Amino acid sequence: MNAQDIIIGSGPSGYAAAVALTARGRDVLILDAGEVMDEAAQALRARMGSAEPDQWSAEDREAISALRRSEKSDSIQPFGSDFLFRLPAEMADYAEDNGVHGLKPSFACGGLSNGWGASVLPYHTSDFEGWPISLTDLAPHYAAIAPLVGMAGMRDGLADFYDGVAMAEDRLLPQSAQARALLERMEHKRDALARMGVHFGASRQAIAPGCRACAMCLYGCPYGLIFNAGDAVARLAESDALRYQGGVIVRSFAEHVDGVTLHTSAGKFEGERLFIAGGVLPTTKLVLGALDLHHEVTILDSQHFYLPMLHRWNAGEDPAAEARHTLAQAFWAIDDPAVEKHVVHAQLYTYNDTYAPDMRARFGPFADLAQPLIEGLSRRLIVAQPFLHSDASPAIGARIAGGRLFTRRIDNARTKAAIQRVKRRLANVAWAAGLVPLTPLLRPGSLGSSFHCGGSFPMRDRPSPGETDAQGLLRGQKRTYIVDASVLPAIPAPTITFSVMANAHRIATEA
Ligand SMILES: Cc1cc2nc3c(=O)[nH]c(=O)nc-3n(C[C@H](O)[C@H](O)[C@H](O)COP(=O)(O)OP(=O)(O)OC[C@H]3O[C@@H](n4cnc5c(N)ncnc54)[C@H](O)[C@@H]3O)c2cc1C
Ligand code: SF4
Repeated sequence: MNAQDIIIGSGPSGYAAAVALTARGRDVLILDAGEVMDEAAQALRARMGSAEPDQWSAEDREAISALRRSEKSDSIQPFGSDFLFRLPAEMADYAEDNGVHGLKPSFACGGLSNGWGASVLPYHTSDFEGWPISLTDLAPHYAAIAPLVGMAGMRDGLADFYDGVAMAEDRLLPQSAQARALLERMEHKRDALARMGVHFGASRQAIAPGCRACAMCLYGCPYGLIFNAGDAVARLAESDALRYQGGVIVRSFAEHVDGVTLHTSAGKFEGERLFIAGGVLPTTKLVLGALDLHHEVTILDSQHFYLPMLHRWNAGEDPAAEARHTLAQAFWAIDDPAVEKHVVHAQLYTYNDTYAPDMRARFGPFADLAQPLIEGLSRRLIVAQPFLHSDASPAIGARIAGGRLFTRRIDNARTKAAIQRVKRRLANVAWAAGLVPLTPLLRPGSLGSSFHCGGSFPMRDRPSPGETDAQGLLRGQKRTYIVDASVLPAIPAPTITFSVMANAHRIATEA
């Protein structure tokens, strides 16, 4: 089969590229491994999505939340299905991880957006220092992507800090009372916090209008309101804007004078141009393999950690019974070179029903005895999840040998001290906001588990071998554009996907 433009992958970057290419009238074909949810999970989603939350059966409620989310990425199973990280048969021998257990590839239709946290922020203007593109280059593409992902948020102090990028209107999601109380308290201390370099506001989430405040977000949205790139691609295919072919594993590609040939599990495909949106691990493997490159590339990570805090104010309503969403409720930014050279981003989570089971696990054999304490504490718990810039984070070395991807940990001497400085500043912010920071319980995330990773083929003004130009064209290639996070020159702390999508949209618009 032939097409003018072939895109590999139906995740957020593939979708963003497809939107831009179809808008230019290009004939677009998406090839995708395309794993899908099993039938029982689809039926559960359909049943819950066709009724209001108060009509859901107890069995369905239990079924959707039975597998609790934890930092172990394998445990993220939307609607109880393992399709998010399921390896297609021919990928079973995919990679050898040498201490890199956090980052995993997704071969699902829609990629990792089937299980993501939907937090969407642009990068800060200072994050583009040393990049071949600036915030000005990306701004129109952020604006194009925001309505497509259903970006909700407020034009608050945080929006000002991020130069008002893509915040065209105010739309507040059903916040928890804990988040409202927290942000109100911070508002009273705005000047003092500003002197600490702290900017704050409501979270920005890719959740379309119509949220039922059913608190199931961590298990999958029964109403399909949390942005899912697979659903968005399906809508484009249904409207005949493009063709989508799932169940296809792309094994290699090669440019020739008239186009690009792809060798896949479903035979040969020809395109005039190729856009690679396979997600950082699959793209790295595919590109290294197709171009017969055997050097080690560096996949940059954004180190994250969890800092639990207890609120000192008295809650009114039981937070467990309250109508609300359960994704990140508030964002903090720390912009102070005394803490970190680059902006630090933190996401704040208020009560959700994973807190008590998580605490029970920590109490071990004393869990039953401690149950009343656990119930009380979990209802006062607010967890901050800060992210560091890749300059202060460990990284992942990746190379191929014998057709497999080998990864290893690359430590960063700056990480430990950076975490300590950020912890101290967060503790100060917490006290000012009416929270008790439980600093001894700080828990660092494992390497790659933020899924804010990329940079294996970084965009440069003057690319060296193995690097890309500002169009995502690998040096020496003329028709093969990489459009996912693999081309980011660094991984800034704010959320990654909005910027990856904007950049894919930019490349596909200008290519
Ligand atoms: C638990 C979790 C929470 C997250 N939370 C957030 C968040 O709150 N905010 C945020 O910004 N980001 C978040 N992320 C990260 C976000 O999901 C990713 O940045 C985003 O999905 C990357 O999009 P992508 O299209 O580049 O790649 P992916 O989503 O990985 O999609 C890759 C696509 O390529 C296809 N593919 C790959 N290789 C091949 C091949 N060889 N042949 C055929 N098809 C192929 C796959 O089938 C898939 O469709 C989170 C991720 C996880 C797992
Ligand atoms: S609360 Fe979450 S799961 Fe429920 S409707 Fe809103 S976005 Fe969907």
